[in-house]
Amino acid sequence: MKEIFLMKLGEIVLKGANKRQFESKLRSNVRRRMKPYGNFDVYLMQSTVYVEPMDEEADVDGAWEACHSIFGVVSLCRCRPCEKNLDAIYEAIEAYLGDDLDCAKSFKVESKRSDKRFPLTSIGISQEIGGRIADARPELQVDVHHPDYTVYVEIRDLAAYVHGPAEPGAGGLPTGVGGRATCLLSGGIDSPVAAYMIGKRGVEVEAVHFFSYPYTSQLAKDKVLELARLVTRYTGRMTVNVVSFTKIQEAIRDNCPEEFFTLIMRRFMMEISQRIAKQDGCGALITGENLGQVASQTMEAMTVTGAVVDIPIFMPLVGMDKEEIVTIARKIGTMETSILPYEDCCTVFTPKHPKTKPTLGQVINAESKLDRQALIEEALASVEKIQVKYHDEPLC
Ligand code: ATP
Ligand code: MG
Repeated sequence: MKEIFLMKLGEIVLKGANKRQFESKLRSNVRRRMKPYGNFDVYLMQSTVYVEPMDEEADVDGAWEACHSIFGVVSLCRCRPCEKNLDAIYEAIEAYLGDDLDCAKSFKVESKRSDKRFPLTSIGISQEIGGRIADARPELQVDVHHPDYTVYVEIRDLAAYVHGPAEPGAGGLPTGVGGRATCLLSGGIDSPVAAYMIGKRGVEVEAVHFFSYPYTSQLAKDKVLELARLVTRYTGRMTVNVVSFTKIQEAIRDNCPEEFFTLIMRRFMMEISQRIAKQDGCGALITGENLGQVASQTMEAMTVTGAVVDIPIFMPLVGMDKEEIVTIARKIGTMETSILPYEDCCTVFTPKHPKTKPTLGQVINAESKLDRQALIEEALASVEKIQVKYHDEPLC
């Protein structure tokens, strides 16, 4: 007997005139995300996305897991559709949820009737179905306040649906409704979390990674590509722009005062990322910066590094504690890869005493021996574009 998923829309429901556009984006996102799992029909009615396997070959468990990482969904449940009459509803509950009821000490039935032609009210349905369940299981208590288990009955337009408790969805807004942004992705804990958080607001995320071969290894690059792959579980596909950064770092080392190394390097990163973002139709940058975490993340340092950019820089982690960031990294599955011990180019030529309260004038003066624009053009000419998607093979 058939099982289908119901996915309830989150904030989209509040979006007034844009609601239709949001809904159709979500429907097409779900369709695309179900493709690797076989033949599924995906349709949207009454602020709910229905995902229905169309044949026996469909990988229902794989699809169910994937549905948990689709932004724009507040909660989801697996349920059994049946005819809209009390006998069919009760039979579906016994067949589909009977094992769960067997394990419970108490229960209640909660009903919702969006098809107002159905002859009983929601309360009437719950009483009738609850009565039948209680009659069949004398040891099972009815408890409407704190039940062990809740049976849900939904009378909708197409059919009635029965299910157990819903699970939380990924939340946020459907990918693509909020434009596109470019994340500066390092191999650390923070930037993959930052990419996920902005992705959650409906933004398609692309990435830039600065790579300093031979100071940083192929393993470090693979680690970043693997982090990008893990983030695409939520954000859909991603292009990682790998920029060769060696020459710029050497030029900084050879021509600039040491205390400004990191700041000057970060100004290059920002400017190059903005150029790539604009080429790719992205309207903002994303970084994993966090106020006070390191010398280059003070207000003064952020003023200096942000001065080369004229689009918004989103820093979703700016006010968070490390513990809060780590909790999200674990939840989204990037933590274990982030703590693999490969070096990042930020750790190459790190100053012993970095300037924590720089002024823009000091930094411009410190980088004055460099031909910034020539170095930037050369780096941009070296960009390698790598497409990443969740169903690719893991890289480490
Ligand atoms: P993360 O954990 O993301 O590495 P972090 O705390 O180590 O962050 P920094 O190394 O100071 O912080 O970097 C701050 C931000 O700059 C990162 O979150 C990331 O957005 C960006 N960044 C740092 N290194 C790179 C790199 N090699 N390529 C691309 N972006 C980078
Ligand atoms: Mg880092």
